[in-house]
Amino acid sequence: MNNKEWLRQLSNLTGLPYYEEHRIFGDKSGALIGIRDGYIVAIGLGKADGGHSGVKMLLRYAKTQDPKLIKQALDPAKGKFKQVLTDATTANLVRTYSLGKPDAASVAEPLPGLLAAMKTCAAPIGGKCEECGRDEPQMVLLNDVPTRYCPSCQVQLTQKLDAAAIEYENLETNLPLGLLYGAGAALLASIAWGGVAYLLRRIFLWGAILVGLFVSKAVVTGIGKVTWTARGLIGVLTAASVAFGDAIFYALTVMSQDHVPFMAALKAVLANFWKIETDSDGGVLSIVFALIGAVWVMYSTRKPAFKARFTTLEAPSTVLSSAGAK
Ligand SMILES: [Zn+2]
Repeated sequence: MNNKEWLRQLSNLTGLPYYEEHRIFGDKSGALIGIRDGYIVAIGLGKADGGHSGVKMLLRYAKTQDPKLIKQALDPAKGKFKQVLTDATTANLVRTYSLGKPDAASVAEPLPGLLAAMKTCAAPIGGKCEECGRDEPQMVLLNDVPTRYCPSCQVQLTQKLDAAAIEYENLETNLPLGLLYGAGAALLASIAWGGVAYLLRRIFLWGAILVGLFVSKAVVTGIGKVTWTARGLIGVLTAASVAFGDAIFYALTVMSQDHVPFMAALKAVLANFWKIETDSDGGVLSIVFALIGAVWVMYSTRKPAFKARFTTLEAPSTVLSSAGAK
């Protein structure tokens, strides 16, 4: 069964309207979005952590001080959903699958139990703006999250975020501090890289990504914000860190085989670094991975998003007469 048919079937079973064009969980088949007992419920297909295919569900309630309590109440009712993550307004549930999508009926089945559990601990959103509590009949998507947000609160949020974006642009940058932090992090990562490689007798290639993340965190903390200079610095330092980590690994190996002091071994390794690196198994690969790590981190260090994107819910693809709005 294709994703759209599956969602249509799930829409029939749950009475939640199906919106083909609102891809709030990432999958192009769209999502079910509706209100049940005053709570906002959305279900759809998307990628779970680690790239697994998953069925995702959002349950949204009025702001609470104690999201843990909601997690405790929902956990026993989650059925085959794997995990429940809760914050002040939203519970996120994921059910992963590997071969085919689970039976739509088995996805719909825990919903009444989940709603019953919510009633014991979370206040419904009902027909009110989540921000100011005024009556608001329309649901909107705020950065792909279904919510009730009245027009005046929408304007206020947009203005607030615009101001925050301008403030961020005007932040002072401190390049020397970024360089200092970044170089320190890169050196630490080299030592860890070389040490781990020596202990495991192999180079842990995906570690390049970890090195990149660590260096990037340090550089951005030092500079104060993400700039193109910061990205470039992160890339160079990540590649250098992995290369120097390899050098430490070779030096440790030489030290233990030839019984020479570490510094002498390191000196000899550095003098012939490129030859050793290209001769050794995995040497060139680790440079390649360092570059992949560097590029990936440069790409993924985005500026914080200061955008509130409001989307109105269009007419659903399926409207159910009997099980419609409750
Ligand atoms: Zn409002």
